[in-house]
Amino acid sequence: MDLQKYRQPDLINHVIDDIKKHTASVKFMEVCGTHTMAIGKWGIRKLLPKKIKLISGPGCPVCVTPSSVIDELSKLKKVTIATFGDLLRVPGSSGTLEKARALGLRVEVVYSPMEALELAKQVETIFVGIGFETTIPGIAHTIKIAKQQNVSNFSVLPACKLVPPALEALIAGEETKIDGFLLPGHVSVIIGSAAYNFIPQKYGIGGVVTGFEPLDIIVGIKKLLENLDQPQIINEYERVVTKDGNKNAQAVMFEVFAVQDALWRGLGWIPNSGLSIREEYAQFDALKKYGLRITDIPENPQCRCGDVLQGKIIPPSCTLFDKVCNPQNPVGPCMVSSEGSCAAYYKYER
Ligand code: SF4
Ligand code: SF4
Repeated sequence: MDLQKYRQPDLINHVIDDIKKHTASVKFMEVCGTHTMAIGKWGIRKLLPKKIKLISGPGCPVCVTPSSVIDELSKLKKVTIATFGDLLRVPGSSGTLEKARALGLRVEVVYSPMEALELAKQVETIFVGIGFETTIPGIAHTIKIAKQQNVSNFSVLPACKLVPPALEALIAGEETKIDGFLLPGHVSVIIGSAAYNFIPQKYGIGGVVTGFEPLDIIVGIKKLLENLDQPQIINEYERVVTKDGNKNAQAVMFEVFAVQDALWRGLGWIPNSGLSIREEYAQFDALKKYGLRITDIPENPQCRCGDVLQGKIIPPSCTLFDKVCNPQNPVGPCMVSSEGSCAAYYKYER
């Protein structure tokens, strides 16, 4: 796909001129970590009038994984932990998986759940199932293949999260007044833009599904401004997102997983925002296989990732930002992940 047309300065400036005609002071949340990174990378915050504030949301799967997941994994013996790389440096309450690996924990970085399944054909393997609707169908598909191939050495720790219930919790919590959402492009490919209709209908707030190029984001902001009085969900990412999403992916997801409450780092328990492995696939449920428990344990009180994830503060407002906490020495998950808000601010907006 030729993305150059979404990066043309004259087009971008034209939309910025339109944005400048609006007088409202507003706070828009970009839900997705990749949007946060793109906003930093393309200097979008600096192009906007000061009365338009962009705040980051809970859209990075690594950042919202509770520390008890790291703690529980760190205790495992005689099993290989297969995980995406970002999770290695996320602090649990007593250290990271990377440090535990140096002390003998068996950890392998994989790039897909299928790679973890292949590993399980050689050694007992637990795949750390983190991610949103974007990655969940792939994990579900892998569990189905494991069953078909009768791979007894394989299990998944189900720590996946669903985005719409988290948005509802953020709005209902009223901690942060949000005037509109830039909705995540990749998640929306799976769930479809209609999945967010409850936001205007129930809460009177609009949202725009956007892509990750600068023009996508700027047009999304313009549409949010134009529709402040008639909040609705607009799909500005029609080149990949449909109204109803990918039905096949949704079907495989709910064949293997059932909806349940989930613990989000920094946000607490959110009703119906997570997934458990269904009884038919219980043999692949690492929680059952190893007796693991995901619990709410106190975080480092100085790290303000919880407030960053709820849009209550921006990363530089944390007293540790760029002093004690940096990507070489991350104190909280938002500084570790390649989609984390603190990492984005550190890289692009110091
Ligand atoms: S998985 Fe996709 S939608 Fe979710 S945070 Fe990452 S880039 Fe954004
Ligand atoms: S700067 Fe570091 S300590 Fe502060 S909120 Fe971000 S990750 Fe947490």
